[in-house]
Amino acid sequence: MPDYRLDAEHEALRKTVEEFARDAIAPVIGSFYERCEFPYDIVAQLGRMGLFGLAFPEEYGGMGGDYFAHCLALEELGRVDSSVAITVEAAVSLGAMPIYRFGTDAQKNQWLPGLCSGERLGAFGLTEPGGGSDVAAAMATKAVLADDEWVINGTKVFITNAGTDITSVVAVAAATGPLDQGRPEISTILVPAGTDGFSVSKKYSKVGWSASDTRELSFSDCRVSADNLLGERGRGYAQFIATLDEGRVAIAALSTGLAQGCVDESVRYAGERRAFGAPIGEHQAIAFKLADMAARVHTARLAYYDAALRMLAGQRFKKEAAIAKLVASNAAMDNARDATQIFGGYGFMNEFPVGRFYRDAKILEIGEGTSEVQRMLIARELGFRA
Ligand SMILES: Cc1cc2nc3c(=O)[nH]c(=O)nc-3n(C[C@H](O)[C@H](O)[C@H](O)COP(=O)(O)OP(=O)(O)OC[C@H]3O[C@@H](n4cnc5c(N)ncnc54)[C@H](O)[C@@H]3O)c2cc1C
Repeated sequence: MPDYRLDAEHEALRKTVEEFARDAIAPVIGSFYERCEFPYDIVAQLGRMGLFGLAFPEEYGGMGGDYFAHCLALEELGRVDSSVAITVEAAVSLGAMPIYRFGTDAQKNQWLPGLCSGERLGAFGLTEPGGGSDVAAAMATKAVLADDEWVINGTKVFITNAGTDITSVVAVAAATGPLDQGRPEISTILVPAGTDGFSVSKKYSKVGWSASDTRELSFSDCRVSADNLLGERGRGYAQFIATLDEGRVAIAALSTGLAQGCVDESVRYAGERRAFGAPIGEHQAIAFKLADMAARVHTARLAYYDAALRMLAGQRFKKEAAIAKLVASNAAMDNARDATQIFGGYGFMNEFPVGRFYRDAKILEIGEGTSEVQRMLIARELGFRA
């Protein structure tokens, strides 16, 4: 039976992030959210705390910690605000991690110090207008090798962190060869921000995550050096599958945080708000909602701890990552709905964070693989061709 208690180091980190999120993010993030403004100053403070470098070795400017530490930090950030949490998640899990896992020494030395410090952000461009869940088969972005340069043409949609003032690099998945067994040869190419032929759209107008940066990317005869290939040519599919397996654990942690934030706010409110002569938490319908919400958080947390600890132990964790993502994103969505109900009319007001949680929860069942995709992955691990 694995031991799910946090050791002293992980607990100290969790507590530090909890306090920072409560004291420095919670009081101000609502106004960034309403203005759809990226919170540069908060990101810089998180960078100085080392939160972008938790999972990377010190030689690249990281903190020498592990991916579980990254997940714990995301849970505590998600408990207060998801725009900030997804900015860290995407920068680390999708931006920096593929470079660390698959990059050459030169690529790691060039990009990781900036990304680990949080002074620069990375992004991962996979999804396209024609397909997200089935992006490999639908891959329309093409890169052709000519005169020792990759020439990239195509469009990516919904890319997190791609257009901030501090974005330094986007890892772009592109078709680099003909179709074989239903999908093209896919490779990942690092495209520095500001490269000629690479442009980012205006920020999307989104339902939630309003203080985070999400853009459409266009590549029009965009040329980068042949050396910008990440890892081996043709390994792009395997790279993004591995990246997303890990990323799902991180999204599960963020989702657990949002679900816990709903419990925190609702328990406090249900103890204060009175109706029919008693605090509303004394009415069984509300008390049972709170109980269900606490049970969902507990289950979600155990699921992501389990997936993360298997990952760190070098064990297969694909099924557990998909289960954690499925369970935790459902918990976030259900808890956000219940918390908003507990707050009554105030739940619909921007003055309270539960309305923001409600708007932020839905994407957790969609991004980095929808809930249907998670079920397909779990079913495949059970031996069915789903
Ligand atoms: C705010 C935001 C940030 C994002 N950030 C990034 C990012 O940084 N990088 C990046 O590359 N992408 C990013 N994405 C994209 C995201 O990962 C995709 O939206 C997601 O994977 C779903 O793809 P899709 O939108 O094309 O939906 P589709 O794949 O078109 O799916 C539509 C629906 O059909 C269902 N479906 C599809 N196939 C099946 C099937 N075989 N069986 C049952 N149901 C099926 C899906 O579950 C879904 O409900 C982001 C998206 C958003 C909204």
